[in-house]
Amino acid sequence: MQCPSCQHTDSRVLESRSADGGRSVRRRRECLHCDFRFTTYERVETVPITVVKRTGSREIFNRSKLLHGLVRACEKTGLEPARLESVVDEIELQLQQQRHGREVSSAEIGELVLQQLSEISEVAYVRFASVYRQFQGISDFVATLESLTRRPAHKRPDGALAAVS
Ligand SMILES: [Zn+2]
Repeated sequence: MQCPSCQHTDSRVLESRSADGGRSVRRRRECLHCDFRFTTYERVETVPITVVKRTGSREIFNRSKLLHGLVRACEKTGLEPARLESVVDEIELQLQQQRHGREVSSAEIGELVLQQLSEISEVAYVRFASVYRQFQGISDFVATLESLTRRPAHKRPDGALAAVS
């Protein structure tokens, strides 16, 4: 493994630890040439998942985009980003395990998100569901959520929800 500091190719492993719920191994390394310390992760190579949008166009599933959208959707719902990251982990895992053709519709991803949110936060669930009808793909999803969060507070659906939850 090439040293990020001096590009020397030999390093020694100081520590190996299971990470990401056992799905990867984290290694702390030290460069044999300059003693620079760095971290590497080893994980099983996964096949990219293709998302088919309602329009029929395709894009590669991007977990960062999904997480970004979820974080926005769940603002002020009391859900920690770490909790949302585990939601995305779970969805990605399900997609990897269940998809033989590695193609999934954006609607199916939306359903998986709703299923996860329904177990952890009613407010987040309803908020996500309120934008879900316009869900065309992950980027459209993010754009929709952004427009939702830019609306004045008194017009947001979660204002009313907060009052009853
Ligand atoms: Zn080095």
